[in-house]
Amino acid sequence: MNASDTPKGRATAAFEETYGGEPTALVRAPGRVNMIGEHTDYNDGFVLPMAIELDAFVALTPRDDGVVRIHAVDLDEEGAFDVASVRSRDARGDASARPGGWLEYGRGVAWALQADGLTLRGFDATLASDVPVGAGLSSSAAVELALAAAFGVSSRLPWDATAMARRMQRAENLWVGVQTGIMDQLVVARGVEGHALLIDCRDLHTRPVPLPSGVAVVILDTSTRRSLVGSAYDDRRRACEAAAALLGVTALRDVDEAHLERGRADLDDVTYRRARHVVRENARTLAAAEAMAAGDARALGAAMDESHASLRDDFEVSSSALDAIVAAARAAPGCLGARMTGAGFGGCAVALIEERDVAEAIGRIERTYREETGHHARVYVSRAAAGAGPVTLP
Ligand code: ADP
Ligand code: MG
Repeated sequence: MNASDTPKGRATAAFEETYGGEPTALVRAPGRVNMIGEHTDYNDGFVLPMAIELDAFVALTPRDDGVVRIHAVDLDEEGAFDVASVRSRDARGDASARPGGWLEYGRGVAWALQADGLTLRGFDATLASDVPVGAGLSSSAAVELALAAAFGVSSRLPWDATAMARRMQRAENLWVGVQTGIMDQLVVARGVEGHALLIDCRDLHTRPVPLPSGVAVVILDTSTRRSLVGSAYDDRRRACEAAAALLGVTALRDVDEAHLERGRADLDDVTYRRARHVVRENARTLAAAEAMAAGDARALGAAMDESHASLRDDFEVSSSALDAIVAAARAAPGCLGARMTGAGFGGCAVALIEERDVAEAIGRIERTYREETGHHARVYVSRAAAGAGPVTLP
């Protein structure tokens, strides 16, 4: 493979051109896919994501002052700021409304680190990534954690992965202005090769769970993007909060199926079905983690199938494209289970497929999906990768 085909190669090659020397450090952070546990994070529940083999790379040389220069190679844009200029949130820009908005991720990272009392030194850097943007594989968390790792090198910061994840969530929520739970940053920071990460979203406890052998995780991008997801997301959150209040608990995490049935008369039908998804999805996620740990790929696949049905029928966040690609996956040889992944209404599905059938299955899924919807799927096969950190220079 040509070096310019990889984000690592692009970041290091562009460094030389941009700054006229070799970088002294290289750091990376992966994207992620959620295997199961959807719309459970903001209910204090469980999620089971894994870091994937698509990454953001930052090549850098530390500076003696507070200036941060970043060349975003994929966009062919350069930006710079001084860490002193982002100590107050009043300095916040708008990440979405203008070109160069990507630099707000860099400024937000510097703000969040300094807001937690860390002293920063700047760097000259190049950034390149192959995590697709807006597909639901969290290109934003990859960029945030890669830049956090860059500051880790330039400023000799102690690397506490969970603390870094929380800071990066704050950068995304409070600086960039995108509301997300902690899942993305936590798995991008704490991912373990060959393992998914069971996260308890109440106390942020994480447990690495080995992926079963002989099966591949296949990510199926529908090539459709969510629209109106913001308001639908807010609706779902509100319904979950209302259900928890009516059932007399802090969060739906504290409800089991018997409790939900006892309280059913107090909930309208929609609120009941939203709550039923969350209650069952939490139980399914714990069961899926046990199946994974036991090497039971069939049970894991079955849980993924049930998760999709529940997201489609009870939580109502699927789409015709997601349903079509999931159906195509299930009909393919060696498929043990498939579901939509991410917030919904578009983006990606994830399937568990016997390794020996993967090539044939992908061909069939692509064909069926194209025939049914007219869309071209993008497909990624990924093992579970390690979380963010430094890598050896090539
Ligand atoms: P996702 O679901 O992929 O996380 P987001 O909208 O949350 O989508 O984040 C995408 C944003 O992250 C982009 O608009 C851009 O600002 C930033 N970003 C992602 N990848 C890159 C990259 N390779 N270079 C520069 N900025 C990037
Ligand atoms: Mg994102």
